[in-house]
Amino acid sequence: DLSPIRRALLSVSDKTGLIELGKALSERGVELLSTGGSAKALRDAGLDVRDVADVTGYPEMMDGRVKTLHPAVHGGLLALRDNAAHVAAMDEHNIGAIDLLVVNLYPFEETVAKGGDYEDCIENIDIGGPAMIRAAAKNHAFVSVVVDVEDYDALLAELDANGGQTTYAFRQKLAQTAYARTGAYDAAVSTWMADALGNSAPRRRAFAGTLSQTLRYGENPHQTAAFYVDGTARAGVATAVQHQGKELSYNNINDTDAAFELVAEFDPADGAACAIIKHANPCGVALGGTLLEAYKSAFDCDRTSAFGGIVALNQTLDEATAKEIVGIFTEVVIAPGASDAAREVFSAKKNLRLLTTDSLPDNRAGGLTYRQVAGGMLVQDKDVGFVGMDDLKVVTKLAPTDEQMRDLLFAWKVGKHVKSNAIVYVKDGATVGVGAGQMNRLDSALIAAKKAERMAEVLGLETPLSVGSAVASDAFFPFADGLMEAAAAGASCIIQPGGSMRDDEVIAAADEAGLAMVFTGMRHFRH
Ligand code: 5GP
Repeated sequence: DLSPIRRALLSVSDKTGLIELGKALSERGVELLSTGGSAKALRDAGLDVRDVADVTGYPEMMDGRVKTLHPAVHGGLLALRDNAAHVAAMDEHNIGAIDLLVVNLYPFEETVAKGGDYEDCIENIDIGGPAMIRAAAKNHAFVSVVVDVEDYDALLAELDANGGQTTYAFRQKLAQTAYARTGAYDAAVSTWMADALGNSAPRRRAFAGTLSQTLRYGENPHQTAAFYVDGTARAGVATAVQHQGKELSYNNINDTDAAFELVAEFDPADGAACAIIKHANPCGVALGGTLLEAYKSAFDCDRTSAFGGIVALNQTLDEATAKEIVGIFTEVVIAPGASDAAREVFSAKKNLRLLTTDSLPDNRAGGLTYRQVAGGMLVQDKDVGFVGMDDLKVVTKLAPTDEQMRDLLFAWKVGKHVKSNAIVYVKDGATVGVGAGQMNRLDSALIAAKKAERMAEVLGLETPLSVGSAVASDAFFPFADGLMEAAAAGASCIIQPGGSMRDDEVIAAADEAGLAMVFTGMRHFRH
């Protein structure tokens, strides 16, 4: 299963390590073929190279759109060396075998990431490169294909270990990597186009992603993991700059995303907002006042859970807030900017990660979410459902006051980011109890109330802050029991989608308890 390498075609956009590789191959007696820019680089380094144009008999043309698309190249890559008819065809048409292909593609993903315009992106779609990669990979019975600069050393080691040949197992691995690259490349093109066209229909999408980071481990230490980015987010954990602290972990990235997406619900023009996240659920969210006040209010919702939390802010981190944050163990802080003074405060906390972005995530921008299931992938539009004041329908005898309405809408926005079943108690623009991820709505209501009670003890309050609170439920109450629990905890008003078979019962219970209730007509499950 050994295959010798006598002739190699080198055509790379990223010239990193090219000369060293060319030299090493030359020294091992490998003949080098190459395209324009790559050939020039090799020749300038004093290496003996043959131009592909010389092999094909055609010059590179149309701004490089056509360089290697020719039978002299593709025949040399695809011919089965042990097939008499293939060998005869090579002889007849004077096609030389190509045993090694080294290609990296036009930097399409980088061009998109840099904000290249439409024409720029189109020009950076490599055509000949993927064609050659796919051909060489198909013929891995004989041909070795390298698409990643990081594999150059492994290739040379393989040659040295096998007297200038490669093993079948090695070529198989290279081929698999090669198809991963061409697959991801076309997916990136399609994803970019879908974005440019504003078309994100799940059934017409490919899954794109380029490796951004190999992670130390996954959700647990015995799982390996990596972070792929797809270039679709203008601002988010994928684009953020990390200023200090250890590398982000798998769980950090997941939680930081949840935190920043949540806080992006709140327009900075409406006031400062802060969200503290633990295990992808908010343990405190607050809106209004200064950033410091928002942080403190968020923290006071559930001080126990906030320990080791992830903090997201909707405004530039300032010194006062930074000083408050370092008072407790915090894993990550993400914000659209941080003042120099704030960064100075953080620099004393070596392990605290600070991430900044240029702006907040766009909470109305569409896109897709993916969830893996055994044997497949669930794809859906991102939940960008929005409910405004005008969408609310008062269903009880009592109507919420303006102040209650503000708290209800705030609770509703937070609830969208809480794992279902979600029950959120809010008072004066801050959560005072969050019930998340329970298998029934009643338990979520109970847990949220319990948390409010415990915090009342911690804060030395006479009555829990759930008294007089606004309560959001991410989906309808199927029975009145969950609502009655909220009433027992002192809730004064409720926001929920409505639409249950027993809405009448639930509304009657609300009237009886003296609650005001509004229906949104929209559900925000989050599992
Ligand atoms: P060079 O810098 O050597 O002139 O060009 C190298 C790049 O050209 C590589 O990224 C390779 O994938 C790409 N390439 C090779 N052949 C063709 C072709 O026929 N058409 C296009 N569009 N790109 C090609």
